[in-house]
Amino acid sequence: MIKVRIPPSPTGLLHIGTVRTALYNYLFAKNKGGKMIFRIEDTDKERSTKEFEKDIVDGLVKLGIAGDEGIHKGNKGFRQSERTGIYQKYLQQLLDEGKAYYCECTKERLEDMRNKQRANKLPPRYDGTCRNKKLTSGVIRLRVPDDKEIKFNDLVRGETVIHSKELDDFVIARAIDDPLYHLTVVADDHDMEITHVIRGEDHISNTPKQILIFEALGWKPPEFAHLPLILNEDKSKLSKRKNKVSMDDYLNDGYLPEAIINFLALLGWNTPDEQEIFSMEELIEKFSLDRVHKGGAIFDLKKLDWINGEYIKKEITDDIDKFFEKLTPYIKDISTDSDLIKKILKDPDFEGRFKKLTDIPNELSALFGKVADYPLDLIIKEKFQITSDMLKQVLEKAK
Ligand code: GLU
Repeated sequence: MIKVRIPPSPTGLLHIGTVRTALYNYLFAKNKGGKMIFRIEDTDKERSTKEFEKDIVDGLVKLGIAGDEGIHKGNKGFRQSERTGIYQKYLQQLLDEGKAYYCECTKERLEDMRNKQRANKLPPRYDGTCRNKKLTSGVIRLRVPDDKEIKFNDLVRGETVIHSKELDDFVIARAIDDPLYHLTVVADDHDMEITHVIRGEDHISNTPKQILIFEALGWKPPEFAHLPLILNEDKSKLSKRKNKVSMDDYLNDGYLPEAIINFLALLGWNTPDEQEIFSMEELIEKFSLDRVHKGGAIFDLKKLDWINGEYIKKEITDDIDKFFEKLTPYIKDISTDSDLIKKILKDPDFEGRFKKLTDIPNELSALFGKVADYPLDLIIKEKFQITSDMLKQVLEKAK
């Protein structure tokens, strides 16, 4: 059975890039009748917090793409901090079999070594000083084979080959009971029987290292697919300075979860007919990794606005009461009766005017300001029997 995973690190609020990765995993799994696991990578103890974890879990649950098993279901063992004993066992196995070794090189020595390498125009990498020392404490390094081609068929990017000469004996644990990311992620993917690792392109350089760990532990690596980076409009990597990056910001701004999903699905993937609006069912049916783009995906806020506007229009037409419930938190400062607001929302003159839920209170306040000359009670009495003509007059007058 196909099994994928989303393993965010709780070192920040739910990032829009994590949502896209979770979505592609979710769509891939559902399309293939497989399962998705949601676990938390909290080996970085200094930077991981419970608050960030909660934000990430709540966010993916709210979007409906948290998957079938894991942290969000209250299952145990889906947080790396709960699995230290397991990692220790695998580290010991690697040490016993000579596939990893302890290293006691000091920071100063390593720094000195790197400086010399740089001065000689060599890439900085560990020189193997402790490789054959048979030490019994220190950090733990993987013994990387000297001459080996590491190959994998990236399901997005095609055949990828890296030579082990380009890697050094990298550190996989700070101590036997303090494992690092490469070791933990491999152990988790193996133990949870993950068949496909689908993640951002920023992880591509990690993949050969992780394949070596899989092999050192005697395991078959899963398939890999690396998704295109999300870029700012100027093609730099999506950053806080140029765009909002946390999911909460978009929800607070009044983007609808369904619209965000639709937008993110198209951030690096499309259908041959370039369809723009999709229900979740359609996305599941149509998604495939071979239509994921190789090049970076530009985060186009205007497109998100357009998609969100389309969803708002549809929700107003389909079920105004349900839509109004969603709108309530955004219009709490506008004290006018709800029937009147619903009427305005459905008025053809307003169709397509709202791109975000936050546009609605702004437009309504402006409108109420503009119609202030008209006796408001009359408008309300007639349940906003304000005709299109009258509205036009009001807007005309306000110009
Ligand atoms: N914890 C990693 C991250 O948040 C995910 C690593 C992976 O998918 O292998 O980027």
